[in-house]
Amino acid sequence: MGVLAVACVVALVMSLTGRSGRQRLQSAATLICTNPQCLQKTEMTLAEIRTVKRARPAHDSDPPIFECPKCKQMTAYGAVICPSCHLAFLPFKARRTASGQWECPGCHAEVKTTAR
Ligand SMILES: [Zn+2]
Ligand SMILES: [Zn+2]
Repeated sequence: MGVLAVACVVALVMSLTGRSGRQRLQSAATLICTNPQCLQKTEMTLAEIRTVKRARPAHDSDPPIFECPKCKQMTAYGAVICPSCHLAFLPFKARRTASGQWECPGCHAEVKTTAR
């Protein structure tokens, strides 16, 4: 009984901190800083992203821009994770395939342009 409870807590903590591999892709998003001196990759939970989006003025630029927690510049953008090689890349910097999908800069696989 005690062991089961501990296992449940561990599973819960893992899902909250987003360290359980595949699950992380659903519960968190990756931001990439475009500041050439920084290029920090940051994990943000979807709840945090929603908070940032809500705080933004409605007329603000699209794609959504975020403050980089490392260099404190408004230079971080939401990245797309390639399902094949798990590389995080910025969709607006990626090439488009003939069918209008993104092309992963790592493995050149086609990544579906699903709206966030
Ligand atoms: Zn940065
Ligand atoms: Zn890839």
